[in-house]
Amino acid sequence: MEVIELELEQTTKSASPNLESTLTPETETASSNEPPSAETKMPQTSDSWFGQKKVLKQALPLILLVALNLIYQYTIYIVLFIALGFVFDRINDFLLQQIVLQDKRSTKRLVIFMLYISVILYLSYPLIKHLWYCNLVNVTGWWKDILPFWEVLFTIAMADFMIKLLTIGVKCCVVIPNSNIARKDKLGGIFVVIESVSQLMRCLVPAPEWVKYIIQTPSLTGFLSLVFAIVYIVMKASAIKGKLLLFKQGWDYCSHPKMLGNPISDGSTPSSVCSLCHEKYQEPEQISCGHVFCHNCCHLWFDRDPHCPMCTSSAVQAIVMGTSQQMPKPHRVTAKSSYWKTGSTEYLVQLF
Ligand SMILES: [Zn+2]
Ligand SMILES: [Zn+2]
Ligand SMILES: [Zn+2]
Repeated sequence: MEVIELELEQTTKSASPNLESTLTPETETASSNEPPSAETKMPQTSDSWFGQKKVLKQALPLILLVALNLIYQYTIYIVLFIALGFVFDRINDFLLQQIVLQDKRSTKRLVIFMLYISVILYLSYPLIKHLWYCNLVNVTGWWKDILPFWEVLFTIAMADFMIKLLTIGVKCCVVIPNSNIARKDKLGGIFVVIESVSQLMRCLVPAPEWVKYIIQTPSLTGFLSLVFAIVYIVMKASAIKGKLLLFKQGWDYCSHPKMLGNPISDGSTPSSVCSLCHEKYQEPEQISCGHVFCHNCCHLWFDRDPHCPMCTSSAVQAIVMGTSQQMPKPHRVTAKSSYWKTGSTEYLVQLF
């Protein structure tokens, strides 16, 4: 810390005197321990910053030092953030692997996996106890409890991570073998429904926190903070609309009849085993290009890719788009909902 501050002073002194007025706010930010002021003071000087490229060039080392100073102060948050991302990636991958295993999924491994998720959730709870939904019985206490900017940001990132873990846990329950919670050919739609509810929750969690933060930041005047809050709420409303649309797409996918191909008798299959699961055909179906797969294999594959795995023709695309005569009620598939049918959970960290 001391070294960085000393270097900062030297840099400021060595800069030409006419720059000092421009640089003063930056220097203050670097030496103070209140990062929120960086947010609120920057806009006031932005005109002179962008007007003078030369000044910007000369001040670059200083900006780098300020950034380094911030990284140094918040190392613990940054390390935690990266660790959470890594854990999430591993957990998401494990579930995706289990989903494609179909009947070979291991109940034991899935249960251990869910216990693992529960332990992480239990241990993480103290980190989010300042959030509004943990203080529903004491709302006034929550409103008066003002956290610094970086702590608000970290708490929200943590809550986001926990909801994602919970989502993976719920998806896990659905795929436990013989649980009969979901018909296998509806699995894709159920994943979209679960994912949309999860994204909606994650979208709602930060809203009260940031509205509180905007209104209570002392350096914003009453009118300005009101404008900020309204703009934020309008943007939130449009995001929420998108999540509700995703929910509807998932719901439709679950409730529409699922026929990707024409059922054929066991005797008329081209080979003895299905080329997707490498086992004896179960409820074989012929898709429009002529290739035959099990009913469940069909759904598992085409939830991920609209092309036939054998000839790469866009076999199911035609059916999905409703051009096939045999399909009275085609699936409505959009790029957005298609992606979540795999059972994947969103990587994006919803911070605002
Ligand atoms: Zn199969
Ligand atoms: Zn089918
Ligand atoms: Zn084919």
